[in-house]
Amino acid sequence: MLLVMRGKIIFLGLFLLLACPGQTLAGSAATQQVQFVASIPPLAAILREVTGDRAQVTTLLPPGASPHTFQPKPSQAKLLEKALAFFLAGPNLDKEWAGRLQARRQIEMVLLLPEEFRLSAQDDHHHDKSGHGESGLDSHFWTDPLAVRAMLPELIRQLAELDPAGRELYHANGLRFSAELTALDQELTRLFQPVKTQPFFLFHPSFQYLFKRYQLRLAGLIEPFPGREPSPKFLRELTDRIKSTGATAVFSEVELPPRPAEVLAEAAGVRLFQLDPLGGTPSLYRYDELIRHNAEVLVKVTP
Ligand SMILES: [Zn+2]
Repeated sequence: MLLVMRGKIIFLGLFLLLACPGQTLAGSAATQQVQFVASIPPLAAILREVTGDRAQVTTLLPPGASPHTFQPKPSQAKLLEKALAFFLAGPNLDKEWAGRLQARRQIEMVLLLPEEFRLSAQDDHHHDKSGHGESGLDSHFWTDPLAVRAMLPELIRQLAELDPAGRELYHANGLRFSAELTALDQELTRLFQPVKTQPFFLFHPSFQYLFKRYQLRLAGLIEPFPGREPSPKFLRELTDRIKSTGATAVFSEVELPPRPAEVLAEAAGVRLFQLDPLGGTPSLYRYDELIRHNAEVLVKVTP
C-alpha cells in the first residue's frame, strides 16, 4: 500500500516537472538541477566549488586529452543547448575549438581575472605579438590559487545573474572556497620554499601562473608550441641546457605525447616526472586535489 502511495507521489512529482519545464520545484527532491558546461576539467572543478549540488557541471574534454588540439563530438555540442552557460578558459588554450561552439551564453574565464592577475603567453604561438591584447593572454590561470580567488567575485556575480535563485548559495560557497584558497596558497608557499633555486624544465607553458606566484625558476620548455613536436635539433640544444644548469629532472604531462620527454630525460641523464595540469580523473577531481598533486610532483625536483 505504502509502495503504491510512494509510486503515486513520485509519478505526480514527475508530472509536475514535465508540466512546467524550466521551473524549479523548491524544496522538492525532484528539484531540477541547473546545467553548466565547461570546456576543460579544472574550470568545472572551480565551478563545482561555487555551485555545490545546485548545478550539474559537465566537462567536454575527457581526462588525458590535450585541450590545445581537441575536437568536440557533435553529441557534445548538443549538451550546450540545455546549459545556462558554457565556460571556456581562453586564448592560447581552448578558444580555437571551444570558442566556435554555440551556447546560450559563453564565458571566457581568463577574462574574469582582474587585470593585474592576467599574464601574457610566454611564447609566440599566439598571433598577437604585442602580448597586451586579449588574444595574447595565457589562459592556464587556475594553477595559481590566488588568481582563482581573485576571480571569484566576478564569477559569483555572473552565476547569480544567470541563476538568481542560487545567489545566496553561490555567495556562501564562494566565501568558503575563498578561505580554502588562502589556506592552499599558504601551504604551497611553504612547500615550494626549498626548491626556489632549482631550474625547472617543463613540457609546455601550462604552469606560468603557479611559477610566478611561488617564484619558481622555469629554465626551459620541451614543447614550446602546444601540439607541435619539437625538432631533433631543438631537443639536442635543450639537452645541453639541462646539463649545463645542473637540473636533476624534467617534467612531462599526461595529456601530451610522452616520447620527446623520455628521449630528453635519457639523453640528459635526469629523472622524468609527470604533471597533470588538467586532472578530471577520480583522484584529481576537486580543485585542491589537482593543485596539491602537481605541487607534490614539482617538489620532487630536489636532488
Ligand atoms: Zn596548455
